[in-house]
Amino acid sequence: MTTAPRCGSPDGRDPGSAGLREVRAGSLLRKGSRVDSWFLAGCGLNLYRGCAHDCAYCDGRAEKYAVQGEFGRQVEVKVNAPELLRRELEPRRRRVAGAGPGGYVLLGGGVGDSYQPAERRYRLARASLELLLELGRPVHVLTKSILAERDLDLLLAIQARSRAILSMSFSCADDELAARFEPGVPAPSARFALLERCRKAGLPTGLYLMPALPFLTDTGEMLGRTLRRAAEAGVDFVVFGGLTLKPGRQKEHYLAVLAAFRPELAERTRRLYPERGQIPGGYSRQILARFSALADELRLPARMPPALYEGLLSAGERAAVVLEHLHYLLEQRGGSSPYGGAARLVAARPELAEGGQLDLFPSGGSTAEAGRVLEELRKTGRCLLLEKLLGRA
Ligand code: SF4
Repeated sequence: MTTAPRCGSPDGRDPGSAGLREVRAGSLLRKGSRVDSWFLAGCGLNLYRGCAHDCAYCDGRAEKYAVQGEFGRQVEVKVNAPELLRRELEPRRRRVAGAGPGGYVLLGGGVGDSYQPAERRYRLARASLELLLELGRPVHVLTKSILAERDLDLLLAIQARSRAILSMSFSCADDELAARFEPGVPAPSARFALLERCRKAGLPTGLYLMPALPFLTDTGEMLGRTLRRAAEAGVDFVVFGGLTLKPGRQKEHYLAVLAAFRPELAERTRRLYPERGQIPGGYSRQILARFSALADELRLPARMPPALYEGLLSAGERAAVVLEHLHYLLEQRGGSSPYGGAARLVAARPELAEGGQLDLFPSGGSTAEAGRVLEELRKTGRCLLLEKLLGRA
């Protein structure tokens, strides 16, 4: 395991010393009714609740998630996670309950990084990966921690058997800037180095630029630096996500950290966000177009390429994902998309695309373009427009 520079803590606190509370969780898997096209995941799990990485922008602080204790300093450890996972994933039980959507099992996301410092001691992520390997399930890991390298052997074994991806999230590629906002996370340079080693070892990798921080890490210069490093590291895809700032603890904490560093930006950021916490559409479109142009220039696919989920989805699920990705990629470029409505329809009822009910997408109607994509998928298993938008055609 490489010793990485830590971003460190501005107040000298070791973020790894967060108070840990062992709990026995009632359930583990987050099961969706459809495949999440951002991560190509049909379900996901979190092993910890709360996160010692203590990112200033983390929405785990928001009241709606009801994380107990002081965020960043207290973490719940789901000590029974491996036994729950076996119970919830074992084939006999799944046959009774229905197989659920296909795609990857997402290890990560939510309100606690699965490779935060407590994982060194509890090894819950490793136990989960061992089980997923045994059950032949595909895994997509999303983390900010280079501790994931400890489990590279398992990820490669899963990749050989049923597919695995390691994705890392970043707010930027600048070590000093990241240290202010991600006090408990290994520096971006260490994360990029790990992505590079994984790629060389044969493991597919992704970069989630989530969240890009308004006026700070979403400028042309900063986006360019991050995406150039991603290209150098050889990642298979990049995905952009803006910052949400939910009114209350999350927003006030982020603005306080920002104000201590750049007070004028704190004021601008406060004005940018209305009460509901989503970044306004006009600003968001401008940044997405910037990101998209840079990704195109560097030939970085801005969504997961189809080759990475080939064979993991039913025909209907794949059709829904392709339509959603087309919609996203066209809108990201600032164009209009005729695929949004059809994407929602097929995502809710994938059997429409499976059963060849293409008369729902009449050739003269507003959904004609979507109908053509579904027909092409049915006949060739490919969508040339998507491949072109991903820079792969
Ligand atoms: S690593 Fe993720 S979950 Fe942990 S504090 Fe940072 S944003 Fe939140």
